[in-house]
Amino acid sequence: MTRISNEIRVPWGSGILRSNFFCAHQLGHYFLHSGKPAGTNPIQAMHYFNVETDDLQVEQEANFFAHCLLMPREKFQKAYLENYDYPLGACSIFNVSLKLAQARWEYLSKK
Ligand SMILES: [Zn+2]
Repeated sequence: MTRISNEIRVPWGSGILRSNFFCAHQLGHYFLHSGKPAGTNPIQAMHYFNVETDDLQVEQEANFFAHCLLMPREKFQKAYLENYDYPLGACSIFNVSLKLAQARWEYLSKK
């Protein structure tokens, strides 16, 4: 039986912002996708899904989980509005990229 690591290994050379998102995304798989495929536990789910599996819905769910974890709605909206003229200010508070912050802002603005 192959032992599966319970570690999240960030791809070599990833910057801190990308690493934060990667870890949050993997935690999304851990919490949301246990049992996919049938019989997998959370650790297996975390390692099973990757670019090669190409399951768009599962990846979008993990991305959404990462957005919520890294940029909680109320705190993020407040910080983004306070830094509206300089969105990088909000990015530095949550340690996310500008692209990620803008995507979160656009999503929350529609709600
Ligand atoms: Zn994934």
